[in-house]
Amino acid sequence: MSGSRLAWFSHEICFWHDPGAGSGYVPVGPGVEPLRQFAVDPDLRRAEGLVKATGVMDHYTAHTPAPATDEELLLVHVPGHIERVEAASAAGAGDAGVYAHVNYHSARAARLAAGACVQAATGVLDGRFDRAYCLVRPPGHHAEPDRAMALCLYNNVAVAARAAQRHGARRVLILDWDVHHGNGIQRTFYEDPDVLYISVHQDGLFPAASGLVMETGAGAGAGSTLNVPLPAGSGHGAYLAVMERIVEPAARAFAPDLILVAAGVDAGGHDPMGRMMCTSRTFHTMASAMCRLADELTGGRVVFAHEGGYSAWYQPMLVLGTATGIAGLPAPEDPFLHSLEHLPGQRLQRHQERVIRHLEEHHPLLTGRPADGRPATAGHAVSGDAGPG
Ligand SMILES: [Zn+2]
Repeated sequence: MSGSRLAWFSHEICFWHDPGAGSGYVPVGPGVEPLRQFAVDPDLRRAEGLVKATGVMDHYTAHTPAPATDEELLLVHVPGHIERVEAASAAGAGDAGVYAHVNYHSARAARLAAGACVQAATGVLDGRFDRAYCLVRPPGHHAEPDRAMALCLYNNVAVAARAAQRHGARRVLILDWDVHHGNGIQRTFYEDPDVLYISVHQDGLFPAASGLVMETGAGAGAGSTLNVPLPAGSGHGAYLAVMERIVEPAARAFAPDLILVAAGVDAGGHDPMGRMMCTSRTFHTMASAMCRLADELTGGRVVFAHEGGYSAWYQPMLVLGTATGIAGLPAPEDPFLHSLEHLPGQRLQRHQERVIRHLEEHHPLLTGRPADGRPATAGHAVSGDAGPG
């Protein structure tokens, strides 16, 4: 594939979004010393720097996004939500929702993040490029129609999916491999039969009791949500098994016109938020697989958008793994790989495999049995060894 057919969306202002003084995801307060909150994005600029320094960016054409318009944001969000984000940002600091702190630049950064995803999606639909990667912040998948949540202001991928539908895509597959459950994406499309949302996440991590196997969609959308809550400690083997046994057959059964990937890298093995063990090879393999799937099902139309990723030192390598996979290049030389690759749990474990097998036996997209809108199972995690929540 010619490099000019790959689009890279990023904007300097996305790197200026800063949730303010805090530690991890908690703002400064009793018991919390000032350090930094997650999603402060010099780290993301460093990720882009690594993609440039290794020459991988030469395979992409850089695009500068325009901010999402009110009309585009309103495809998913209510007016009051946009007003709260704008007001908190204009005040220079504060929480625009629930653990969604902002600075002066955040409202514009959030519009640029959503705008990048919209323009990437409509661009691949128009055939202006084949595949796109959006290196954006703030992330989006926790943002619900009426509230910002957990670092997410606007739901970038959800807005892009709605914009794509308006632009002629009839059926959209969203795969979300961020380590957290994308509650905002799920809620947006829970009753929409034309958007399949597949989330592969750490069971019970965040939000608590969200992203259960029994959540499979409702009403007309019954069967169009597919949650894969993997036990903490899952690694390369588990994620690849999910791709082969869940994502690929579900995608073929659904037959999308467009694929969007919420491509967070916080399932990486050094991430401070997640407890998974993925490596740059994992993200390279998953990105490659999604591009092959897009070639088979959507005429190659696939857009990847960054979501979470909080390891200062490993996130750039994980973004590089994703970017090389999209570009059809070999997996990058990863000097951190030795710290993760040899760990015993990297191969698919029996208790992880049980989640996959359960979905194979129960989810309507995988069994071929029609969905009835009722829960596929009354259980929480299938393995019975769920994480907290
Ligand atoms: Zn996340």
